[in-house]
Amino acid sequence: MRHSFGHRLCRFSLLGAFVVGAFECSPVRADEAAPRKTENVILITYDGLRWQELFGGAEELLMSKENGGVRAIPELKARFWRDTPEDRRLALLPFFWSKIAKEGQVFGDPSHASSSRVTNGRNFSYPGYSEILCGFPDDRIDSNTKRNNPNVTVLEWLNQRPGLSGRVAAFGSWDVFPFIINAERNGIPVNAGWMPFAEATDPVRLATLNEAIRDVQAPFPDVRDDGLTFLGTLEYIQVKQPRVLFVSFGLTDDWAHAGRYDLVLDAARRTDGYIERLWTALQSIPQYAGKTSLVMTTDHGRGDDRVEWKNHGKDVPGCAQMWIAVLGPDTPAFGIRENVQVTQSQVAATVARLLGEDYTAAEPKAGAPLPGTIGSVAAGQK
Ligand SMILES: [Zn+2]
Repeated sequence: MRHSFGHRLCRFSLLGAFVVGAFECSPVRADEAAPRKTENVILITYDGLRWQELFGGAEELLMSKENGGVRAIPELKARFWRDTPEDRRLALLPFFWSKIAKEGQVFGDPSHASSSRVTNGRNFSYPGYSEILCGFPDDRIDSNTKRNNPNVTVLEWLNQRPGLSGRVAAFGSWDVFPFIINAERNGIPVNAGWMPFAEATDPVRLATLNEAIRDVQAPFPDVRDDGLTFLGTLEYIQVKQPRVLFVSFGLTDDWAHAGRYDLVLDAARRTDGYIERLWTALQSIPQYAGKTSLVMTTDHGRGDDRVEWKNHGKDVPGCAQMWIAVLGPDTPAFGIRENVQVTQSQVAATVARLLGEDYTAAEPKAGAPLPGTIGSVAAGQK
């Protein structure tokens, strides 16, 4: 990855030299240099998926009964164990590594002198999602209790922008999202938890999906099966064609708390497949094809040893470290970003900036858009 990154950088530096020259070396903003293509943004989160697995694939120490609660070790190793970290992560997250990380950018790989950090100091879900969506930490958000967020998220802010009003929606497996987004205040459609779906491409399909929601086993009462969340999201996209869509998958976190490393890996792999199918579906719809950017991240990291991988929170060392990825027609293909420190609070302004909107001007507490993710010239500045 380091090698190909260098090549890409050279290519863009050459291109950048022309453009920067035209602007007499003034700090040119990328979107002034080339017309922005993004008209839609999909923000996707994987709850508590560690950077260790994202960048390194399955961890050998945890593929055991004792440390990872693994039931069928040889079968799990056949699915996910490979000799190198590059092959392991490709086995775990094939779409992420063959598409998103190749044609887009990934932040937070410590082996490339990069970090991507949660800044809220709590390192659990509600504070993390609020930081992702609002662009800043808030000390008042100190529990996962279903209380309406006093802050305005970038979703709510975008929902008031011309052309985006009524075109913003959220789907999540965890049932706290209506409160994190404060749907009661802003009326943004938020389908979360085991809530039935309201839209599908045909009524039989809608009824079948809602029967599944009612009838499947629910090992976590507050977290809907991610496969159902995915299927409902896909229907909603086809019917409503939102321009800003937040999708949150949850089971990677729940199976980790349950101490089942095998099921964490299976959930991560399955979710990667959902994201691939979502992306493929988008490319077949004129509203989205070639005009959609994808931003991906997680709400928190987790601990880093044979016990603490299950946990996270302010007292678990290392779990402020996480990862962020961006893919889309305006994002240069730099792959793994090197020598760059970013924070979870930069996601909200990145989502807005991809749509040509300046969130930090409206919300000065918000982190700046992720450097170098939008347009070619920004690359030379990174
Ligand atoms: Zn958790």
